[in-house]
Amino acid sequence: MHTRTLTGPLTAALLATLSLTAGQATAAPTTPTATVVLTYDAGSSAEFRSAVDRSAAIWNESVDAVELRPATAGRRANIRVLADNGWPRAARTTLGNGTVYIGRQAVDQGYDTIRISAHELGHILGLPDRKPGPCSSLMSGSSAGTACVNPYPDTREKAEVEAAFAGRTPAAGPRTTVG
Ligand SMILES: [Zn+2]
Repeated sequence: MHTRTLTGPLTAALLATLSLTAGQATAAPTTPTATVVLTYDAGSSAEFRSAVDRSAAIWNESVDAVELRPATAGRRANIRVLADNGWPRAARTTLGNGTVYIGRQAVDQGYDTIRISAHELGHILGLPDRKPGPCSSLMSGSSAGTACVNPYPDTREKAEVEAAFAGRTPAAGPRTTVG
């Protein structure tokens, strides 16, 4: 008697669990990868701070393999972002680590601050310059002109970052890129 009264609800619950799991499996990404979390410290980016935060959010929207998060106060960040009066540049120590300079020289010439920041973060994420190049390319940088305000990596650039952080390509070593 007990078996029969328990089996009904239990079976229903089990079926409900299975169908929920199946639904979630369908919605999940086809190639799940572990996300590498990198912290960034924009505390010294002065007037560019909101542009830096926006550019980090753009990278987070664009790729799955890596995520940029603001560093907790007092903790060493993977990426430091500074404002200075030179040309924008990035000094990468290892893949995902280094210092970005949001140089006012380019901002004063009319280049977009969010595109500059996203471009320099792109160097830290392992991407080289692609100059000259179209505005659709983030890594074409200043070669796309001051009218170009696109802060998004293109399909190829996104794929390269995904591959680098999924460990399918050799880690990029130290490199300083001006512009
Ligand atoms: Zn560059």
